[in-house]
Amino acid sequence: MPQLGGNTTRASSGMNAAATEVQRKHHIKDTVASFYHDTFVGGGEQNNPELLKYFTENGADAIDWLMKHGIVLDDLTITGGMSTMRTHRPSSMAPIGGYLVTELLKLADKLSCQSLRKCTWTGY
Ligand SMILES: Cc1cc2nc3c(=O)[nH]c(=O)nc-3n(C[C@H](O)[C@H](O)[C@H](O)COP(=O)(O)OP(=O)(O)OC[C@H]3O[C@@H](n4cnc5c(N)ncnc54)[C@H](O)[C@@H]3O)c2cc1C
Repeated sequence: MPQLGGNTTRASSGMNAAATEVQRKHHIKDTVASFYHDTFVGGGEQNNPELLKYFTENGADAIDWLMKHGIVLDDLTITGGMSTMRTHRPSSMAPIGGYLVTELLKLADKLSCQSLRKCTWTGY
């Protein structure tokens, strides 16, 4: 049976982002440049630099956007190739992917979207 979520439902550890409010609260010093460097090295220096720049520069905004909508990733851990704790996850330690998809679906319902395919996320 088809279901929403794709590989995202399988993600288990957390969502990487640098220089976030959550890190500041946990007294973790981090920079976008360090996030870029670690990810570039982890990717065998084969990463698309433009995409990686966008990803690393906008990670903190993504965490904030989720937080603003009640999807709270307030705990931190460290995952492969990272030089500091920048993997954001819920403090319940629920697997990140299932948590995100479930909460985003609830948000879509709240915003009266009949289907995610009909949702316009821009501007929320
Ligand atoms: C076991 C596991 C653990 C992981 N853990 C983590 C982790 O802790 N942190 C992390 O950041 N990443 C993790 N990842 C990687 C992460 O899950 C993926 O990078 C991420 O889910 C990719 O998101 P996406 O939106 O690009 O793709 P997806 O979430 O896969 O979404 C793509 C969607 O498009 C649909 N689709 C495909 N083709 C078509 C088509 N032709 N028409 C219509 N729909 C189509 C698919 O069915 C799917 O629903 C993990 C991956 C796995 C497998």
